[in-house]
Amino acid sequence: MVGERVVDEREDMEIDGVKAEKNYSNEIPDGFNSNLLKIYYDGKHPGCDHSYFGRREFSFTLDNDIYLRFQSFNSSAELEKAIKEKCPFKIDIGPVYSVDPAKRHAYSQSGDNVFTPVERELIFDIDISDYDDVRYCCSGADVCSECWPLMTVAIKVIDTALRDDFGFNHILWVYSGRRGVHCWVCDGKARRLRNEQRAAIAEYLHVHKGNENSLKKVSLEGGFSLHPFLARSYTDILKDFFEGKHLATQQLFSDEERCEKILGRIPDESITSELRGKWQDNKRSRDDINVARWGHLKHLLQSGKQKSPGIRRCVEEVVFSFTYPRLDMEVSKHMNHLLKAPFCIHPKTGHVCVPIDPKHCEDFDPSAVPTLSKLLEELNMGALRSDGEDELENSLLGQSIKYFRSSFLQPLLKSCKEEIESSYAAKLQQSNNSLSW
Ligand SMILES: [Zn+2]
Repeated sequence: MVGERVVDEREDMEIDGVKAEKNYSNEIPDGFNSNLLKIYYDGKHPGCDHSYFGRREFSFTLDNDIYLRFQSFNSSAELEKAIKEKCPFKIDIGPVYSVDPAKRHAYSQSGDNVFTPVERELIFDIDISDYDDVRYCCSGADVCSECWPLMTVAIKVIDTALRDDFGFNHILWVYSGRRGVHCWVCDGKARRLRNEQRAAIAEYLHVHKGNENSLKKVSLEGGFSLHPFLARSYTDILKDFFEGKHLATQQLFSDEERCEKILGRIPDESITSELRGKWQDNKRSRDDINVARWGHLKHLLQSGKQKSPGIRRCVEEVVFSFTYPRLDMEVSKHMNHLLKAPFCIHPKTGHVCVPIDPKHCEDFDPSAVPTLSKLLEELNMGALRSDGEDELENSLLGQSIKYFRSSFLQPLLKSCKEEIESSYAAKLQQSNNSLSW
C-alpha cells in the first residue's frame, strides 16, 4: 500500500495521539489501516469519558478497623500514592457514581439527589461458611482440600450460566483470601444493569430456600422436567461431583444422624422405613458405605414403582442441597455493595487474593496461594532480577498476573475501546445528520 508506514513496537509504545499526528501527518493514508488503528487505540480516544475513573468509589480499611469510604482518585497514580501512604489493611471497590463520591456532600447540599451509582460490575460472593450443613470436615471460616471442591463446583456452575445463559464474556473469579470466591462480571452491559435486573439474575441462579439450621431446602419446581439451566448443572457438574467425590469425602451416610438428615427429605414413610431397615442389615458391606447407601436410596426412589414425580425428584433435590452454589444474594442485588479488590492481601490469612481461572479451577489449591511473607521472602532472597513488569511476572505471583493480564484485562480493554469507539462514531453520525438537515 502506498504511503503505509510500519510502526514498530518500540515506537508504537511511545506514541500518543498528538505525537503520532506530528510525525506522520503527511503520510497518513485514507481508509482503514491496522497500524493506525493501533495508534488510535493507544492514544486517548476523543469519545473517552475522562471523569470516569474519578467517579469510582474506593474504600480503605485501616488498622483498628478505621473505615474510609467514598475515596476517589483522578488517576491510577493518585490511587497508588494513597495506598502507599495509608497502607490499608483492605481495599474495597465500589460503584462508579454520577459525581465524584468524595464530593458527594457538596452535591447533596444543592438539594438535588444527583449522587447515585451509575455503573458497577455485577458481582457474586460465595463463602464456604454457608456450607456448614453439608460439610463435616470443617466449619466456619476453616477450609480444607476436602471441602474446597464445593467452591470449584460453584465456579463451574455460575460461570457457565453467566456465559451461556446471559452472554457475558468478561468474568473474573478471585480467591477471597480465606473462605470463598468472588466473581466480577465486567462486560459493559453487566456494569450498567439496574438493581432490579441484578436481583433478577441473582434469583435465576438461586435455588436454596429455608433457614440456616436445617439442611438448606431445595425445592425444584417445574413438574416433570427441570429448568434447562438446572438440568445442565445437574448432569454436567453436580451429579458427578456428588456421587464421585462429595459422598465419600464427607461420609454423608456414615452414621445414623447423617442418614436421617437425608431421609428427612423424603416425604414418603414407606420408603424411608424400608431404607432404614436395609441399612440396619447392611452394616457390613464390601463397598464404601456411603456409595452403597446412596445406591439403595436412588434405586428405591427412582424404581418403576415410584410414579410420583415429586418422589423421583427427591434424588436431585438431595444432590442440589449438598452441592449447588450458595450465593450471598444481597451482594449481587445492589450496585453500591463493596467488594474486596483483586490482589489484596487478606488481613487475617496474609493470602494474596489471586484470580482463579474457571477453565482450570479444579487445579486451584487455596493452601498453595502465595502469602505476604512468602512474597517478602522471595524479595529478600534476591531471586527477582529483571525490572518493571517482567519482575512481577517472574515472581511467585507470576502465573496469576499473566493470567489476569492476558485472559481478563486485555480482552476487557479491547471491548471497552470498541464500545467507546462505536458510541463515538454514532454520536458523530448523529451530529452529521443534524448538520445536513
Ligand atoms: Zn474441610
